[in-house]
Amino acid sequence: MCNCPVCDASVTISDDPVEGELLECEECGTELEILALDPITLGEAPEMEEDWGE
Ligand SMILES: [Zn+2]
Repeated sequence: MCNCPVCDASVTISDDPVEGELLECEECGTELEILALDPITLGEAPEMEEDWGE
């Protein structure tokens, strides 16, 4: 378990977290990225531009 850097709610992390893994805070809906594993550090994921089709 880790806390959301935005709203401080507890965020559930998978049993086998991977650096760079993206997850979403259930409280505030912010997309979070695992920045480091030891200790687990969460940060806000960079905004992705939705640019799927051209
Ligand atoms: Zn949050």
